[in-house]
Amino acid sequence: MAKEVSCPNCGKPVEWSEQSQWRPFCSERCRLIDLGEWLNESHRIADPTDAPSEDPPPSDDLSTPH
Ligand SMILES: [Zn+2]
Repeated sequence: MAKEVSCPNCGKPVEWSEQSQWRPFCSERCRLIDLGEWLNESHRIADPTDAPSEDPPPSDDLSTPH
């Protein structure tokens, strides 16, 4: 008797066996979707380009009298 789990992405019952290579997901598609969302989340948090960066002040502008 194989154990059944629910696909974390779509909730479809997945047989927990050697034949279910994408377990606990029902398919490669669901696995990639879930993995992709996870990566997006961590990427959004760790993205350094999203943080406000210090702009260097303009040096050869009106602020420098000649
Ligand atoms: Zn699924």
